[in-house]
Amino acid sequence: MARLVLKFGGTSVADIERIERAADKVEREYRLGHEVAVVVSAMAGVTNQLVDYCRSIDPVHDAREYDAVVSSGEQVTAGLMALALQKRGVPARSWQGWQLPIICDEVHGKSRILEIPPTEVDARFKSEEVLVLAGFQGITRQNRIATLGRGGSDTSAVALAAALHADRCDIYTDVDGIYTTDPRIVPEARRIAKISYDEMLELASLGAKVLQNRSVEMAMKNNISVQVLSSFEDKIGSDYPGTLVTNEENIMENPVISGVAFTQNEAKVSILNIPDVPGVAAKIFAPISAANIIVDMIVQDISEDGNVTSITFVVPQEDADKAETVLKELDLLKTSEIRVNKNVAKISVVGIGMRTHAGVAEKMFKTLADKGINIDVIAATEIKISVLIAKDYTELAVRSLHAAYDLDQAPA
Ligand code: ASP
Ligand code: MG
Repeated sequence: MARLVLKFGGTSVADIERIERAADKVEREYRLGHEVAVVVSAMAGVTNQLVDYCRSIDPVHDAREYDAVVSSGEQVTAGLMALALQKRGVPARSWQGWQLPIICDEVHGKSRILEIPPTEVDARFKSEEVLVLAGFQGITRQNRIATLGRGGSDTSAVALAAALHADRCDIYTDVDGIYTTDPRIVPEARRIAKISYDEMLELASLGAKVLQNRSVEMAMKNNISVQVLSSFEDKIGSDYPGTLVTNEENIMENPVISGVAFTQNEAKVSILNIPDVPGVAAKIFAPISAANIIVDMIVQDISEDGNVTSITFVVPQEDADKAETVLKELDLLKTSEIRVNKNVAKISVVGIGMRTHAGVAEKMFKTLADKGINIDVIAATEIKISVLIAKDYTELAVRSLHAAYDLDQAPA
């Protein structure tokens, strides 16, 4: 017998028929003798609709009332799920964030969970009754409802799993797991059976938008294994049909590379001819950070003559023009040239096996060179190597790297 938290995303509770199918899965786990809690999202499209309602009254609306409105979608599905379970003879009770309670901070619209008081949740969690929690929402210490940011019900589920010391948190969604790369680009992409928290965080931040990043951070902190699986298949979580995001120690055979990620929504900013004196980098990045622009892949050239240098970095595409504007206002850069290139893609290979294997970077560069793809910028962490290339070569690069690291082949 295990203790499980099952979370159903918007497409998995999109209508009554889908809610009934989700309830079937909950029932199967329950009948296997597991202790079960369920977390639900709003029906697909409902949250968007609620957000639009707020915006149509006033584009700059009060965030507390926004939360009062958008949290309502989950209230409906939690009640419906409890009804569907009761119809199956499974005792069930719905709970909203404030009732459990899920205590969160005052940052309305993007609130973070502060705590789930253990004695209260223990009092509400009964082994013979399925606890159905409305995801995405909690209550602030000011007694106001707050929501956890878009996609936040993943985080609700992991937080509940941590509070209940659950054995596993299953996230039912519309894909059957995490893939070695985007299958729309590489048909040979394979589902990954197990992946570490660190790798998942690197892949997620690169656009594999299956789990809210915060939920992975929370799972890592609390050592909760999270399984991503499809609610459209007949299998249930206890069959392990999906991708398990888990502690490195639970992964026996580490492939050197687990996945190839890419993003095309960034831009390269280059500043040429910068006077090479102490403090320039700090001066350049001060207004960028003041403008709340997130920077990645920073490269500064060695200045050959000791007089001028150049700096290149990457920013989200939507912030590129803002970055250019604030840099142009800097006295220091009066004689410099600022170039912005939005026609770029960032390709990354990610894998914890990199820590113990030599030659991973070399293989990446050689593979791209063989295809005649020029590398603009390189950045690396312990488990990720990223390169910036011209956008037109994205597919070719991803496909070639996927093959070069043998990701097309099932692991031996
Ligand atoms: N319903 C919320 C959203 O659409 C939360 C979630 O589904 O995770 O963002
Ligand atoms: Mg989601």
